[in-house]
Amino acid sequence: MSLKLVISDLDGTILETEDYHRRAYNALFGELGLARRWSKEDYSDRLKTMGGEKFREIFEWLDCPAEEYEVTKTELYARKTELYVSLIVADLKGNRLALRPGVARLFVEIGEHDIPLAIGSACVKWAALEVLEAALGKEFVGSLAVVCAGDDVERQKPQPDIYLLVAEQCGVRPADCLVLEDTAHGLHAALAAGMSCVVTPSELARGHDFAGAHLVAESMEMPGRIGLEELRALMPG
Ligand SMILES: [Mg+2]
Repeated sequence: MSLKLVISDLDGTILETEDYHRRAYNALFGELGLARRWSKEDYSDRLKTMGGEKFREIFEWLDCPAEEYEVTKTELYARKTELYVSLIVADLKGNRLALRPGVARLFVEIGEHDIPLAIGSACVKWAALEVLEAALGKEFVGSLAVVCAGDDVERQKPQPDIYLLVAEQCGVRPADCLVLEDTAHGLHAALAAGMSCVVTPSELARGHDFAGAHLVAESMEMPGRIGLEELRALMPG
């Protein structure tokens, strides 16, 4: 297999944003008049579950009739996403948030060697695009092969659907794809898609089990610089 497509996750992989989900939930709880707040530890436990289960938990705190669950969940999810994006964009603009170490350097190197780079994010598409543009610039986002998001697929990570969709849209066989991820969920999605996977665990995912990963590193710079050559060397013979 040769490396023909690099697919990067967004949250936690390009930007250390996983904690912004927690902050957005907490901002949402404030708007809902709830006194609860999730600590980093509370949220880390919940990161192992799908988004829907978090909303089930929140719904149970609200005094709503059970039949309103679906509509309430949709509304809460939409508002939480707005809060999430606005917190990230504000911090990027205020230089309180930057790309994870080595990501910009690696992305430039991938582009210089004419290897397409794509994004597979569990976020809804408008949110993924807004965050990507604030982080990488509009021109860079325009150069991406494709951006697939959570609303493009039925089944979310750890199912392989999003990565298979990216590969299909790029016309590349899954075995020729390498995925950059930060959580066990994402790793399992990549492996289930039959792709190679490099994991740089985000802050909230450091306790996850990354068995099966082709490489686990603290970041693209630690313990050593990860470049295109290192990624190519990981592809199965
Ligand atoms: Mg992630």
